[in-house]
Amino acid sequence: MTIQSGTSTYDLVIDGDPVQAAAEERFDTVNPATESVIASVSRAREEDVDSAVAAARDALPDWRSMPPQDRGRLLAALAEKIRAQQESLTLLETRDNGKPLSHARADVETCARYFEYYAGVADKLHGDSIPLTDEYVDYTVREPLGVTAQIIPWNLPTNIFGRSVAPALATGNVAVVKPAEQTPLTAVEIARLASEVGIPDGVLNVVPGFGTEAGAALSGHPDVDGVSFTGSVPTGIEVGKTAVENVTNVHLELGGKSPNVVYPDADLDTAVDSTMTGIFANAGQVCSAGSRLLVHEDVKDKFLNELVDRIEEMSIDSGELDPDMGPLVSEEHFEKVTRYLEVGRTEAGDPLVGGEALERDGYFVEPTVFDGVDNDMRIAQEEIFGPVLSVIEFATEEEAIEIANDVDYGLVAGIHTSDIGRAHRFARDVHAGQVYINEWFAGGEETPFGGYKQSGFGREKGLAAVDAYTQVKNVCANIAPE
Ligand code: NAD
Repeated sequence: MTIQSGTSTYDLVIDGDPVQAAAEERFDTVNPATESVIASVSRAREEDVDSAVAAARDALPDWRSMPPQDRGRLLAALAEKIRAQQESLTLLETRDNGKPLSHARADVETCARYFEYYAGVADKLHGDSIPLTDEYVDYTVREPLGVTAQIIPWNLPTNIFGRSVAPALATGNVAVVKPAEQTPLTAVEIARLASEVGIPDGVLNVVPGFGTEAGAALSGHPDVDGVSFTGSVPTGIEVGKTAVENVTNVHLELGGKSPNVVYPDADLDTAVDSTMTGIFANAGQVCSAGSRLLVHEDVKDKFLNELVDRIEEMSIDSGELDPDMGPLVSEEHFEKVTRYLEVGRTEAGDPLVGGEALERDGYFVEPTVFDGVDNDMRIAQEEIFGPVLSVIEFATEEEAIEIANDVDYGLVAGIHTSDIGRAHRFARDVHAGQVYINEWFAGGEETPFGGYKQSGFGREKGLAAVDAYTQVKNVCANIAPE
């Protein structure tokens, strides 16, 4: 795969082939560091989604009945193929999304790792045998859902492609993927790589397009058996309603406003490092960002001084120069984040650091910290999805938990302390699907991930994803003698 420097063209991938949208419409994707067009992409609509779902349906019987070890081998081969193309996929992701090369490279490796991990799961899916009386043999079988729809957001396009598609295919499902309109390119490339390693035509289809067109047509398609949606709460609610109307299996991975709690007994350097990673990785465009810093009053000044010093050293530039932070993904998102910078000023006064857009081409904003935030403020309650940290002071453990839980979201939560009892009391009491102790973004492909409250339902990653992509059949035989 060669990445061209000019504008490239990308088509849909249906039944193993690149195809233009039926209406022959296209849309452009833009490099957020330069605002220049990098690719012209076929724009799928309902008719194209119908074709992709039909191709997937045709491919389902052979794929689900393929010996599981063979399915696993194909997914392992795809993992290796992705690794072999790591640098070109990395550059493509950086140009499409804006993220620094080292972050894009890590996302590509994560995608490969998901295919590798779930390749190993393919031949280890088994049911239970359930003891009834001597008159019965009773057992369960795990079966795939069938045709699955994967709707992907723009913030981690390659990573979430792997997270969502790999367990679906490993468990015998076929997939139709709708990448985000801002960042569709790596999904198309990986589908091409899937054909190269011998994944049969129709097993993995990609329909780039817009949410209200291709996305809605796919999530509401009557011949789709399962929907995996990762994105914002309002869209998730729409997708969920449609799925329920069709009585289709759905799981929703939505947003967050996660608390990062720092105590005076924490290792200061580790806690500062972790806080920076938690809010500035991917320019804060991460569902599990640590966007609310709850810092104990006894360490607050020292901690914030160190944090601000470190932020002032950060490099902000085009992702292709591998800075500490790149641009936001799009003009629309840049406008949303800069509006929140104004909201923050009105609610909490001037930020300790940052607060401005950069005077240059591209969608760059400064890493920003608002101190003196009250947990009722909008900048403490709403997902900004940018490099904007809201600092809230607390005095007692009870208060920290109360503030941490006083939010509609519940995706992740983190604590920095050397008191092991306190760390585990926090883990017990906090309302979140994943808890980090002394490190942000801890855990890996193997660990279950998903939200409490408005952050969604269902679990991705690890063996928990097997539940999301399979259904259980119970078989009960009467073996009593005549
Ligand atoms: P979004 O909801 O706007 O879009 C997500 C996807 O849904 C895109 O592919 C979009 O085209 C599609 N879509 C839009 N409208 C649709 C509709 N009516 N029907 C079907 N599909 C539709 O979200 P976004 O702005 O791309 O992503 C950012 C959001 O995603 C944030 O809230 C973030 O927290 C969340 N997110 C969550 C996780 C997680 O694992 N919980 C991971 C990454 C991002």
